Amino acid sequence: MEEGLIKRLIASIKCGICGQCYEVDNISILGHRQSLWYLRALCSACHTQCLLAAVIKEDRLPEFITDLTNAELDKFRDIGVLTADDVLDMHNFLRDFRGDVPRLFSQEFSTN
Ligand SMILES: [Zn+2]
Repeated sequence: MEEGLIKRLIASIKCGICGQCYEVDNISILGHRQSLWYLRALCSACHTQCLLAAVIKEDRLPEFITDLTNAELDKFRDIGVLTADDVLDMHNFLRDFRGDVPRLFSQEFSTN
């Protein structure tokens, strides 16, 4: 499927934080595996960045998946943009992490 069309489809959905529709120019396609597309969208109104997965099939309307609940959207509304340091911290955390993924997500870990 053509990437421009995918972007126009994503542009029809609204930012989960402020309700503004995404703009085609602010949508990046990260990649896809068969009909599952991964995208990044930046809201032009509130500058919230969102990662999206969309199942796009030729004969059906796309289904969007975001991993954030409404409560999480509220929680992250006032947090600043992700910096290179944040990514590096996460990289270091995952590099040193010894355990399995279910355990990773079952425990709270501090952010400092
Ligand atoms: Zn927004």
